[in-house]
Amino acid sequence: MENRRPLIAGNWKMFKTCSEAVEVAEQLVKLVNDMTDGVDVMIAPPFTALAPVSDIVRKSCVSLGAQNLFWENEGAYTGEISSAMLVSAGCRYVIIGHSERRQYFGETDEAVNKKIMAAIKNDLIPILCVGESEKERESKDTFSVLDKQVKNGLKDFVLDDLKTLVIAYEPVWAIGTGKTATSDQAQEIHLFLRSMLEKSFGNMLSKSTRILYGGSVKPDNVSELMAMPDIDGALVGGASLDPETFSKIVHFNK
Ligand code: PEP
Repeated sequence: MENRRPLIAGNWKMFKTCSEAVEVAEQLVKLVNDMTDGVDVMIAPPFTALAPVSDIVRKSCVSLGAQNLFWENEGAYTGEISSAMLVSAGCRYVIIGHSERRQYFGETDEAVNKKIMAAIKNDLIPILCVGESEKERESKDTFSVLDKQVKNGLKDFVLDDLKTLVIAYEPVWAIGTGKTATSDQAQEIHLFLRSMLEKSFGNMLSKSTRILYGGSVKPDNVSELMAMPDIDGALVGGASLDPETFSKIVHFNK
C-alpha cells in the first residue's frame, strides 16, 4: 500500500438527530481511541449535528466530515452550506459526488468539479465518489463511466491542488444492498483509477492518493478488501451508524 495511511470513513447519510449523533460519537471515540497511530478515522454526520459532534471528537483520533457542500462561499443560496461554514463547524473532510446526490438531486460532474475546487480552496479534504450503476456494469460501461466521472470531476486541476484528494470507488449496485464487489473486482477498478491519476497528474500523485472502496462494507468483509494493494480504506454507510460495528471495521487489521 506504499505509504498511504488507511482511512476508514463513515457516511451517516440522513440519519440521527443531534442527541443521537452525540451519543454515537461519544461511544465511537471510546472504542477507537487506540487507533491514533495506524488508521485515519472520519465520520460525516448530517449538517445539523456537525457542531455538537465536533465538540465530542475534537481531542480524539476521529475527524469530522460533511456529506456535501455548495461551491460559493456565501450568498443568496437558500438551503445551501459553504465550505467555509463546514470548516467553522470543525470539518476536515467533505464527501463530494456521492451517488445518492447524483441520483436523487441531479448532481452533475460539473457541479462535482466546482465543489472539489471550493473544498480545496478552504483546506477541506475532498472525497470524490465515483461508481457505475448495475446497468452500466452489465453493459460493460464501467470503465468509460469512471473515466468520465474522474476526468470531468478533476477537470482544470493541477497537481498541486490535488495533494490531499481522496477518491472513493462506490459501485452503485453495492451501496446499501448487501452486495459487495469482490476484493478482486474492487482491486481491478482501483488500479484503473490509479492509472488514470498517473496519466493525468503523474506518478507521485497516483502513488500518494488514497482510494477507498465503498458499498456494503461490513466487519466480515473489510479485512479481505483492505488486503488488496490498491485499496486504502473504506467509505462505510449503513455499518457506520452503530459504533460497535464501525469500530470493528476501523480495527480491520487487529
Ligand atoms: C455509502 O453510503 O457511501 C455506502 C457505501 O453505503 P453502504 O455501506 O450502506 O453500502
